[in-house]
Amino acid sequence: MTETERVTVDPVFEAAYEAAQKSLREGGIPIGAALARGGEVIASGHNERVQNGDPIAHGEMSALRVAGRQKSYRDMTLYTTLAPCAMCTGTIIQFKIPRVVVGEAETFPGEFDLLRSRGVEVVVLNDDRCVDMMRTFQNEHPELWAEDIAE
Ligand SMILES: [Zn+2]
Repeated sequence: MTETERVTVDPVFEAAYEAAQKSLREGGIPIGAALARGGEVIASGHNERVQNGDPIAHGEMSALRVAGRQKSYRDMTLYTTLAPCAMCTGTIIQFKIPRVVVGEAETFPGEFDLLRSRGVEVVVLNDDRCVDMMRTFQNEHPELWAEDIAE
């Protein structure tokens, strides 16, 4: 899908994308996420492995941490620029987040089968900006990328 084919701009997804860009500017891994309820952003965050030396701080985990304690996630959507890994998928299942919107799954397949098997709705946007952002990063920093996905 090309940029011109993108019919609507989702402000929540843009918050996730902006968080990824912020991480990139900081020298970190460019993966961002945002948690939303009814189209309203509750929190956003980005991968902080490099910035904080925190291996668990994937974009999704950081956004959930920023959101703080929530009584329920059942009316929420988690947005992420890249398909969620096994750790983040486990957290999505554990917190019973019913819907995940993903920027792209071309550069990393994630755990869609596991998410869907647990009843989580997965929407993939095929956003070219996210693919370009990750391809560039993976080419320029293969060691950081391998570290983040434990390869
Ligand atoms: Zn993850």
